[in-house]
Amino acid sequence: MSSASVEIRVIPYTASETLMVARDVTRLQQLEQMRRDFVANVSHELRTPLTVLRGYLEMIGDDPRLEGSPWAKPHLMMTDQVNRMYSLVEQLLALSRLEVRQDVEAPKTVDVPALMTKLEADSQALNAQKQHQILFQAAPAQMLGDSEQMMSAFTNLVANAIHYTPAGGRIEVSWSLLPDGRARFSVKDSGDGIASEHLLRLTERFYRVDKARSRNTGGSGLGLSIVKHVLSRHRSRLDIQSTLGKGSTFSFDIPRELVVSHKSVINE
Ligand code: ADP
Repeated sequence: MSSASVEIRVIPYTASETLMVARDVTRLQQLEQMRRDFVANVSHELRTPLTVLRGYLEMIGDDPRLEGSPWAKPHLMMTDQVNRMYSLVEQLLALSRLEVRQDVEAPKTVDVPALMTKLEADSQALNAQKQHQILFQAAPAQMLGDSEQMMSAFTNLVANAIHYTPAGGRIEVSWSLLPDGRARFSVKDSGDGIASEHLLRLTERFYRVDKARSRNTGGSGLGLSIVKHVLSRHRSRLDIQSTLGKGSTFSFDIPRELVVSHKSVINE
């Protein structure tokens, strides 16, 4: 037997009165669950044939006869598209997993400075064409949570800054301790910025400001949605500040109770 779900909202009515509105959301929740299951199942089913295709393309790529043949270019284009599809499927699966639970199952110590070192190394490859100046700064503070999820949030934000900033820009990535014991991760870029009407929708699934441009960068529109879910599991929210023509800053604060040994770090 399935149980019913009721959503209750309390709305201010007059200065002294409030309205209470109750709504049966059972059907809505069932539909949402069906959507999640469908996306998770389709993504899962697509992963196997894509892995096989990738394997065959890799095998063809290793054949010395390919170089200089008329098949070299189509092979490259197919590899590109298959890789894009694969990473889209991976992102959809990641999102499905994040949507199932609202908290981190078994929080562990996340060594953020170590992740920042890895992030710096990883971003060199992404930055090879753009040649941005990227500055990294990390306070010696750790946090409680899920390392893999935090790394995916960091990576998405830094990759976006690299992609959406014209070549030769400046990007500042920092992990710092705030005076009240919280810790802040922030990525500031000197890119084109984002018009204010888009800001509230950026973390929606598949939302992209400029679809054609985002597709050219290999974007799927899922990155910030993943970031939003990762952060909500770490009791945090994404803050986006942006000025058209000047750039954007994407940041979030980790609550004091999840920042590890902040007192000892501050007292050092
Ligand atoms: P995508 O895979 O398209 O990059 P995201 O969810 O990561 O998807 O980002 C959603 C959209 O937000 C992007 O398509 C882009 O239009 C915009 N965006 C994200 N980061 C930046 C940034 N640093 N500067 C400008 N626009 C950005």
